[in-house]
Amino acid sequence: MVDLCIYNISALYTMDPSLSSPDNPLGKISNAAIAFDKHKVVFVGSSTDAPTARSRLDAQQSILMPGLVDCHTHTLYGGSRSTEFAARLAGASYAEILENGGGIHSTVNATRNSSETTLMNAFKERLTQMIHKGVTTVEVKGGYGLSTESEARVHRLIKTHGLPISTVGTFLAHTIPVEWQSDRAGFVENIIHEQLPACMEWIVAADVYCDRGAFTLDESIQILEAAKNMGLKIRAHAEQVSHTGIAAAAARLGATTVDHLERCTEEDISVLSECGTVATILPGAQLYLKDTPPPTALLREAGVPMAVATDLNPGSSPIHDLWTCATLSCLVQGLTIPEAILGITRHAGRALGFPHLGWLGSGSSSDCILLRPPPGEPPILESVIQHIGAKKIVMVAKNARIMSLSHHLRSGFQEG
Ligand SMILES: [Zn+2]
Repeated sequence: MVDLCIYNISALYTMDPSLSSPDNPLGKISNAAIAFDKHKVVFVGSSTDAPTARSRLDAQQSILMPGLVDCHTHTLYGGSRSTEFAARLAGASYAEILENGGGIHSTVNATRNSSETTLMNAFKERLTQMIHKGVTTVEVKGGYGLSTESEARVHRLIKTHGLPISTVGTFLAHTIPVEWQSDRAGFVENIIHEQLPACMEWIVAADVYCDRGAFTLDESIQILEAAKNMGLKIRAHAEQVSHTGIAAAAARLGATTVDHLERCTEEDISVLSECGTVATILPGAQLYLKDTPPPTALLREAGVPMAVATDLNPGSSPIHDLWTCATLSCLVQGLTIPEAILGITRHAGRALGFPHLGWLGSGSSSDCILLRPPPGEPPILESVIQHIGAKKIVMVAKNARIMSLSHHLRSGFQEG
């Protein structure tokens, strides 16, 4: 007898590559069940073959899929940048706002000056909303502290929220703070020899924002090489505002993902393909900055796996909903529906360097969600992606434990 079985699932989207085919790219099984034992997936198949279990949940014909993975966010920050939104609508560019001391710099000031309680309360509220939307793993970057003390504080908070969602801490060399503007090389040294070591306890990866107004290609490579030598996974904000060459350089250094890519070239893409690097695309930033899309057709043609993330941040992508980003990736970036769904599940796990995330099968993580399609729609993910804001998450299981269950599924839950 196993620990938990969820049965009477209308459509189980496994995202298991071994079950996918051109006709069934998401490894979908109809009338399905899934079972867990000792926090592992032990059965995925037809509901009629489901094993007996101590705890049983009748899914009442809902859709089951892996917990979502938001692989690029800046979820912990202080302050608000709503007034900048108005400036942008009036025509100011992100680079201009940045160069005038706005953008990242104002969030850095607000984050440094916020109390731990203020930062943590807002952070936990954002995470709770993500959980309610079915996100079970979220990458959270630092980079609004920009000093050893402030970055260490931010990264400790990112890992000590206590909520049923995994947070993957990523150090971000985000920009040069005002007090270091005249000594850029000194700041790079400070990152490598002080900031990164002070955060090591809390982080698994390092990221660098290589662009106009932030770090140069040489500085970025120096930081990523040092981080890699410290045993961290590496990644980069790449080719967003201007083309710098960081996408190819980071891929060659072994980056798990390079992100944004609005200005990446065909040559960059062939390097990503060679190196097996994920391309994480961020439709929220593209939309808010009224930017052009990354070359997704070329990425597809080159076989580069694409992940989709919210890039949640208070300035260029204030989007809290990964589902909305999946829909936008289809509408404004040219992804197909299966690509968008893989982008917020399995490919997002791969972007984080955690290939067990975002799918369900032998050896996968045990995070899964049940959802209902929009009212009147069939229980398929095509309907869920087509509609913005109308789906309903009715269960979230983290590590094979049911963390939230909507009231109409409760009568069908027998807890052993
Ligand atoms: Zn970002």
